[in-house]
Amino acid sequence: MTLAFVNSPIDRRSDLRPQGTTIAAMKSDPASRLVRIWGDAVEMRNAHLHLDHDGISDRAVFLGKTNNKIAWFADASDSEPDCVSIRTIMVDGLLPDGEISLLAQARSLVSWHQRHQFCANCGAGTVSIDAGTRRKCESCGAEHFPRTDPVVIMAVRKNDMHLLGRQASWPPNMFSALAGFMEPGETIEQAVRREVLEETQITVSDVSYVASQPWPFPANLMIGMIAEATSDAIKIDPDELETAKWFSRDELVHMLEGTHHDGLWASRPQAIAHTVLTAALKR
Ligand SMILES: [Zn+2]
Repeated sequence: MTLAFVNSPIDRRSDLRPQGTTIAAMKSDPASRLVRIWGDAVEMRNAHLHLDHDGISDRAVFLGKTNNKIAWFADASDSEPDCVSIRTIMVDGLLPDGEISLLAQARSLVSWHQRHQFCANCGAGTVSIDAGTRRKCESCGAEHFPRTDPVVIMAVRKNDMHLLGRQASWPPNMFSALAGFMEPGETIEQAVRREVLEETQITVSDVSYVASQPWPFPANLMIGMIAEATSDAIKIDPDELETAKWFSRDELVHMLEGTHHDGLWASRPQAIAHTVLTAALKR
């Protein structure tokens, strides 16, 4: 298993989005593929994505092309029964890496359209334009763009000790990297220092970037970082965390491998927490 959602085969071809005739022709082409989304699930058939279609609706959004020939679209599903949770597909590796990755784009875009039917400026109805990559207000003309919500997620370390937290809602014995939404007017570095301080009262000096991961529940971008702590005493925010602890390097290695003597474990390889915690052991 590798980091999920980061290897999409889709070439987004933004140049085609305003070309209505071309988009319409691709929608009527039987070779085009249609991904159907239901909430955070997707239609499957015989252990594969269900991509056949009898015509792609005006509502469907253009994702792009693969191999410069096959056009891909996404639309909301009309029925739940054939759908499988994208989280389950990811955790259990039910699809090839590339297909899991393109679901991030499909799920985030379809969800955005469903939640932005009305103008945030004047309240009138909005319509989809540019093959579903924007919406426009029919009254005031304001344009609305699909949103991506950045979240910082950080491996916090001091000497050979690593700070991990745990939320009450998580599966038993699971710990992970601290994380939190970025706020307006904030740099990534500031968000890392603020979140670590708010959740644990640990202070942080240097912050460095590791990697990022789309996380389509519904439209996050996880920004993976390493943070160098400058204090030791933990005081958790009980609204955010059930507990937080310093773990030795050896313990963290076993938690990531699933071989910890007390059964503790730290995040699956599909999630970027695993990537940043592993990077913090190596760098
Ligand atoms: Zn408006």
